[in-house]
Amino acid sequence: MTADKSIVCACEDVTVHDLEDAVARGYGDIESLKRYTGLGTGPCQGKSCEVAAMRICTSGNKLAPGAQVPFRARPPFAPTAMAEFAGLQAPPPSSEPQPGLRPTWGKGPHPLQPATPLPEKVDVAIIGGGIMGLALAWHLAGEGAGKVLVLERGYLCEGASGRNGGGVRAQWTTPTLIELAKESIAFMGRFAQELGINVWLRKGGYLFLAHDEETLRRIEGSVDLQRKHGLPTRIVTAGEAGEIAPELDTSKFLAASWNPEDGVVFPWPFLWGYAEGARRRGAQVETFTRVTGIETGQGRVRALQTDRGRVAADRIVVACGAWSPQVAKLAGVQLPNVPYRHEIVSSEPLKPFLGPLVTMLGTGLYFSQSMRGEIVGGMGDPQELPGLNQSSSLRFLARYSRALTELVPRLGSVKLLRQWAGCYDVTPDHSPVLGETPGVAGLLQMSGFVGHGFMMAPAVARRMAEWMGGTKDEIFERFALRRFAEGRLEKETFIIG
Ligand SMILES: Cc1cc2nc3c(=O)[nH]c(=O)nc-3n(C[C@H](O)[C@H](O)[C@H](O)COP(=O)(O)OP(=O)(O)OC[C@H]3O[C@@H](n4cnc5c(N)ncnc54)[C@H](O)[C@@H]3O)c2cc1C
Repeated sequence: MTADKSIVCACEDVTVHDLEDAVARGYGDIESLKRYTGLGTGPCQGKSCEVAAMRICTSGNKLAPGAQVPFRARPPFAPTAMAEFAGLQAPPPSSEPQPGLRPTWGKGPHPLQPATPLPEKVDVAIIGGGIMGLALAWHLAGEGAGKVLVLERGYLCEGASGRNGGGVRAQWTTPTLIELAKESIAFMGRFAQELGINVWLRKGGYLFLAHDEETLRRIEGSVDLQRKHGLPTRIVTAGEAGEIAPELDTSKFLAASWNPEDGVVFPWPFLWGYAEGARRRGAQVETFTRVTGIETGQGRVRALQTDRGRVAADRIVVACGAWSPQVAKLAGVQLPNVPYRHEIVSSEPLKPFLGPLVTMLGTGLYFSQSMRGEIVGGMGDPQELPGLNQSSSLRFLARYSRALTELVPRLGSVKLLRQWAGCYDVTPDHSPVLGETPGVAGLLQMSGFVGHGFMMAPAVARRMAEWMGGTKDEIFERFALRRFAEGRLEKETFIIG
């Protein structure tokens, strides 16, 4: 390896050496390279560096040229001020369900699919290499659960786990979710020691703004519960909120709930850390490998079919986020989860001015400032149609920009750089589906985390691994799939977006 400091991506200061280092560490496909080095995430969106980066990655037999699949350009294609979008009449939502994005490499297996055979038999096969599957693999491998295999159809970060806002908060409205989030956030603080990679946890707090009396009553009730669980959450006046998050137009809300210990993490290293940690403990994590079938017989799981062959497994975990219903169907199981697109956007970097993640209950607007200075935020759309749709829309930019600049007028002149979307995995009671599947022994569910799976993953994965090892745990009763058939739905809770 050379230590060539020639710049390839001028926007983000990425050198030839950085690219070679990323390839050597296994982040050589262009999507992973982009995330690992920052290449192509600046104002030019890869227009001036992507081709050079791909050439460098394929030179010297590092990666086969056919394996280099360009990343998608992200709209808006030129940096554009939020005021321009805010002034637009938001176009109506598409009346047709949108198809999923077509793979950029065409038909068939991904060109980077490994040529090595998969094991013939494992103890636990986990379908889905998102945060849930990877965190579970790390815990299982640490607990002597036998041979553990994770199968991910794309690169790590392909699903919602690589597309989210990284918000982590313990401000929830049920004891179970408060405790899961508390444990998870505490673990994020130790992540670098435990897993050797920094997830950049920044405890800037979360401000939940209440725009009307009814919402104010709701947050007051939740603050009481959170304080009983040891959180320092309190209600602050609009004026105090304006001191915590400068530039807010404090006439737009009545008050807020404030927990200074909530925060934001940088999503990608969170996945890589679990994946590397799981591998170090002996688990096998296979990317670019799609599960195409689940064999069952005599009331239990037998094996998986993949586009790299068959793997027999004693237990199979469906951890496919928004794709979980599709995958569970391979075993003849119907999940009540429904996927919904959720869009998000990042601005040009600004000097640090915003500590907390701010969210407006009601509209579902949320935004925070990333460690690179960008304002990263999103907003749900009540008119969004269900579907595995990860495309981006002008409608979102118009609605988001209007909502954000009404609340923070100074942001009107700030340019938006990069827009993307992922899918929320929504269940009828906005709570997860965990544990056993009625009628199919050995098929375990780990899905339905809506817009908050990232902040729950460390605790949920630990408890799932322990439960799989024989420890009793009430969450596998509370969140069992059969609760829907039994009409035992969870209480509504604070969902953003
Ligand atoms: C825009 C957006 C913002 C969000 N913001 C936040 C936030 O601020 N905080 C927070 O906590 N949560 C947030 N979330 C939610 C969070 O990202 C998810 O709850 C979480 O990442 C779900 O993790 P997962 O592992 O269940 O699913 P995923 O990360 O989606 O992983 C599932 C994986 O399964 C793979 N897969 C699917 N089918 C197959 C198959 N047949 N074979 C093999 N692999 C397959 C997919 O490729 C995918 O990688 C947000 C989500 C979105 C979309």
